[in-house]
Amino acid sequence: MFSKIRNRLTILYAVVMTIFLLAFIAVSYAGILWVLHREEQQDIQAFTQEEVKEHVMMLKRKESRIMLKDDDNANNIGGKIFFYVFDNDGKLVDTEEPVVKMRSKVRDMISSWQDTDGEGNIKKFHIADGERVILIMCSMPIYDGQELLGRVYVGEDITSYYEILKNLLIVLIVISILFLIAAVFVGHLLAGRVIVPINNSFSRQREFVANASHELRTPLSILLTSVEVVQSDDDNHLSSFSTQVLDDMKSEVRRITKMVSDLLTLARADAGATNIIKEKFDLYTVTQQIIRSFQPVADEKTLELGLDCENNIVVFADKERINQLLLILLDNAIKYTPPGGRIDIVIRMIEGPKPSVRIIVQDKGVGIPAAHQNLIFDRFYRVDKVRSREEGGTGIGLSIAKWIVDAHEGSISVESTPGYGSSFIVNLPI
Ligand code: ADP
Repeated sequence: MFSKIRNRLTILYAVVMTIFLLAFIAVSYAGILWVLHREEQQDIQAFTQEEVKEHVMMLKRKESRIMLKDDDNANNIGGKIFFYVFDNDGKLVDTEEPVVKMRSKVRDMISSWQDTDGEGNIKKFHIADGERVILIMCSMPIYDGQELLGRVYVGEDITSYYEILKNLLIVLIVISILFLIAAVFVGHLLAGRVIVPINNSFSRQREFVANASHELRTPLSILLTSVEVVQSDDDNHLSSFSTQVLDDMKSEVRRITKMVSDLLTLARADAGATNIIKEKFDLYTVTQQIIRSFQPVADEKTLELGLDCENNIVVFADKERINQLLLILLDNAIKYTPPGGRIDIVIRMIEGPKPSVRIIVQDKGVGIPAAHQNLIFDRFYRVDKVRSREEGGTGIGLSIAKWIVDAHEGSISVESTPGYGSSFIVNLPI
């Protein structure tokens, strides 16, 4: 039970840690990206302004440096920063071009330029060999006073910065995964420490319940026998009131005896002191016996009991525990079905790679609201406390049923509609 809590705590730690790490990666990556982008913006704007200043005189004199440069050389220049200066007629008057493989794309971009003057814009594209290129580009008009002389386009190849960022992100993710593994490990250790005092106090409580239940059994059975002896003594002349009191006492003592025995079963199960002793037996015969034992109670309540089961369903399980499981389910069905109703036990073999047997106990009783259906298998949980108490219920039955099914590596579930009845479905591997 505590190892489940420990695992849940570890998962909780891990989820919280993952959220923190993801938030850390996202915030730091976004921060770095923002700072880098701002720096690039400022740089490109400064470069562009410089080029504007440098080319005012040249454009005024209508000079062109293209002719002055050795053409081949000019075409081979390829740095991170490049620029193009055009006069008012759209003629290229000066340039320092980017590397050859991206020139045509850059020229295309310039010819279809739409962006705001003086603003650095990120441009992403693929060049002929499929390589991705990221540029930041800026354009400004060149004025001499009020007179427009031309336009400059400046760009910078920032692909490598983004490559570094991408690698940084990978490194961050890898480090985070390593930290996460360490956190899960440490979380598991810490969760184990947290559980130690809870486990100790739970063990003491369990021991107390086990001892108290054990000690109570003898006096209770003496009490019951004593009442029966008094009732059967012919020399006693009991008034009808005394007879009634003795009857009530007997049923109360029986109720307490059942509760004490249920508590003992749970305490022993928790302590792992109850062994499941499996044997081969015929489920049909066992179920028939149980139905026979419940027949008087069912008759008293005018309930019909039905069994739908093929002869000879041989299972390999703990006979006593399966008997107890059927008793609990049938007892509940009888308790929570109003007089005149019907209860059926259906047993089927489920063939397949893992053959199992399905036991369905269905009644046409009060039913269980959906919100309670998952909780009724918890200890001491009762949907309607008053009703359950009136019926002699303690809220332990179904938790014992669940324990028995779990101990057989099976499953138990309920399907129910309030006002129409409930079906308890048990699957047991055989
Ligand atoms: P109890 O001793 O109170 O019956 P159980 O653990 O056997 O305790 O059942 C838990 C609760 O589930 C009951 O109090 C009851 O409200 C509900 N319950 C169990 N079986 C049925 C049923 N067949 N029909 C309606 N309600 C049921």
